[in-house]
Amino acid sequence: MRSWLRCLIPASAVLLLGAGVPTEDQLRLSVLVVVYPETFAAAATRDEVENVWREVAESTEFVERASRGRLALDVEKVVVERVVPRDDFQEDPPGQYWLNDYAGSRHLVEDDLVALGQPPNRFDVVAVFYAWENRLSHTTPFGAASIGVNRILGKAAYLAVPMVWTPSTLSSYFEHELLHCLESMFEDAGAGFPHLHNGWAFEATYGVDQAAWNAWVLSNAPWDAYLTKPGSWGTLAGSSTSIEPIR
Ligand SMILES: [Zn+2]
Repeated sequence: MRSWLRCLIPASAVLLLGAGVPTEDQLRLSVLVVVYPETFAAAATRDEVENVWREVAESTEFVERASRGRLALDVEKVVVERVVPRDDFQEDPPGQYWLNDYAGSRHLVEDDLVALGQPPNRFDVVAVFYAWENRLSHTTPFGAASIGVNRILGKAAYLAVPMVWTPSTLSSYFEHELLHCLESMFEDAGAGFPHLHNGWAFEATYGVDQAAWNAWVLSNAPWDAYLTKPGSWGTLAGSSTSIEPIR
């Protein structure tokens, strides 16, 4: 019996390999992270800009680990040295402002990025962080917000985070909006996606934080459905290393 088992194990390993175990099990998204260090409301210091890069790097590591290697981000960074005037912001409701990618018919963020040489259809997500301070005369209506795919620079989804929150929490705002972008990609490709705002119930039930919920979404997203019939977003790759799941 024992020798038969020893024989069987290598034979079945060969059979599995021969049956074509999928090697492209990872989705890699190209993300352009943009910082506007100066707006009508505030100016960010060099350290605050550096903090954005650190927070995004932390998120990049988090999403790969939490998705068990199914999602990886290829991040490029750019700073737009332009003072963003009040008129470039979406004001809704009165006195509350969010940096949408366009105002009226002006695609202002895309115009800035094109002027800096960013080409169309290279990125899956454009993620903007902008200097902000809440005052009586102007506040932010959202923690952060996003708009689905096919929004900017061709196919990319758009998200924007005001740099007004505790610096070490910017990553969680970015991650939540990034998940909305992913939701938009999966839904467009017919793959479905977990309902992101069920996190409140999840947190209440299990007494866990936002990161635990984001990790749950990342580990339970229908990766195989998207990867076997992918949309226009991301490239497929083989995850090179086995990644320890979050406990
Ligand atoms: Zn949301």
